[in-house]
Amino acid sequence: MKFRFSTRVTCPSCGVDGQTFSASQCLTRTCSISCIGCKKTITSKLSLVEYLALVVYIHVLTIALGATLLFSLLSGNWFVAAAAAALFFFLVIPPAQIWHANRAR
Ligand SMILES: [Zn+2]
Repeated sequence: MKFRFSTRVTCPSCGVDGQTFSASQCLTRTCSISCIGCKKTITSKLSLVEYLALVVYIHVLTIALGATLLFSLLSGNWFVAAAAAALFFFLVIPPAQIWHANRAR
């Protein structure tokens, strides 16, 4: 299966495109949404190795950007704090959504 760099999920049954797994759901191992076309459940389950890689990736980012966020807040550097928080979400949510979109069954 070809790896797509897109957060959109294509339904394996009816081929309807343009659906995404939610941001909160994609941080878990298993995601499921109901297809907007055929109402069938589209699920994505990461293998244990893939899920561990995701968890480790999120933890590394949390430590790095969490420390940046904390120290910038303590020193009153609001712009850096906002940038660290925004960067965290842009580096975590879209990659997890893309990963799950490629595992959709
Ligand atoms: Zn469908």
